[in-house]
Amino acid sequence: MEHEYYMRLALEQANKAKQLGEIPIGCVIVRGDEVIGRGYNLRMNKNNALAHAEIMAINEACDNIGDWRLEECTLYVTVEPCPMCTGAILQARIPRVVYGTHNKKAGCVGSIYDLLSDKRFNHTAEVTSGVLGEKCAAVMKDFFKEFRKREKQGFIFDFDGTIADSSYVWEKVDSDFFKAHGMEIPSDYGEKISTMSFYEGAVFTKNTYNIEESVEEIMAGWHDGAVHEYERNVKLKPYVVEYIRFLKRKSFKVGLATASNPEFYLPVLKKYAITECFDAFADGKLGLPNKENPDIYLKCAEMMGVEPKNCTVYEDIPQGIKSAKTAGMTAIGVFDERSVHRHDGVKAAADRYITGFKEELESMTDHRKDK
Ligand code: ZN
Repeated sequence: MEHEYYMRLALEQANKAKQLGEIPIGCVIVRGDEVIGRGYNLRMNKNNALAHAEIMAINEACDNIGDWRLEECTLYVTVEPCPMCTGAILQARIPRVVYGTHNKKAGCVGSIYDLLSDKRFNHTAEVTSGVLGEKCAAVMKDFFKEFRKREKQGFIFDFDGTIADSSYVWEKVDSDFFKAHGMEIPSDYGEKISTMSFYEGAVFTKNTYNIEESVEEIMAGWHDGAVHEYERNVKLKPYVVEYIRFLKRKSFKVGLATASNPEFYLPVLKKYAITECFDAFADGKLGLPNKENPDIYLKCAEMMGVEPKNCTVYEDIPQGIKSAKTAGMTAIGVFDERSVHRHDGVKAAADRYITGFKEELESMTDHRKDK
C-alpha cells in the first residue's frame, strides 16, 4: 500500500509532463517517509535529451540532502527506466527502485537488459515492478492515442492582418509612391486597386495618373518598398509566437495560407524564429486563384497531410472565411485594426470570432487540463 501511495505521487508528476505536451512519465524519490525529490519528463520543453523524470528527481534529491549518494532512498517511477536513467540510479547508489509499467522499447530494468541486478557492477538495486501498472500504462497509452489524433489535425494561418500587423504595408508603399511623384494619394485609391492583381494595379496607376515609368518599373519599386518594410518593421501580433509554438509542441500540423510571397513573409517568420514550426506554405508562388476560391486552403491541407474537415483556419477577411468554410474547414475570424470595416462580414461568416491569440492559447491549455 505504501508503494501505491508513492506511485500516485509519481503519477501526479507524470500529469505535469502531460500538461506541457511531454511524454507523461513522473518520478519521486523517498527517504524514510519524506519525499526528497520530484521530477517529470521535460525533454522537449528544456530541449535536452537528458531531462528525463528520474534525472530531474535525482538532481532535486541530491540538492535537497547535499549528497550525491542516495543510499537510503527508494525511487518510484511510472515507467521502467531507460539505459541512461538506470545508469544514473547505479551512480547515485539508489538501493530500491519501484516502477509501474514496462517499457519494451527502452527498459533496462527487466525488458531489454536487467542492469540493476547485474552483479558485475559494484552496485545493484532491489526492484519491484507493476505497482499501479495498469494505471501507469493507461496514462502512456492515452497520451500516444491523443498524440496520433493531433497529428491528423491542422491549423492554417493567413499572414497579413491575421498573424502579422502588416495590413499597413501596402498603404505605406502606395502613399510613398505618390509622394515620390509629387502627389497626394487619392482618397479612393486603396479601394479601387484592392481587387486588382499587382500587374493590373500598376497598369491602372500608370494610365490614370500619367506616371512616366514603365509598368515593370512601377511594380519593381512597389516590390522593393514592401520587402524593405517587411524586413525592417513588420511585427507579429501578440501571442502568435507562443500559440504557434504551443501547437507545434503538441504535434499539431501548422500551415500558412497566404496570397503573399516568401520574400515578404519569410523575413518576419525568421525574425521570430518560428519558420520551423510550419509544415506547409501555400503562398502566392503556387499561382493559385485568390482567396475568393477555396483552392489555397485545400492545397495547404494537402501539403500538411491533413483532411480538410480536420483543419481550422484563422483569417481576417470575409472572403477567406467563406472560402475556408466552402473547403469544409472550421473558420475563425481574427480581429485586425486595419480592416475594421470588414468585421461584420467576418463575424457573420466565421464559426467563431477572436480579438487575439491570447484567448486561443488560454482556451487550448484550459481544455487540456480538463482531461
Ligand atoms: Zn530515462
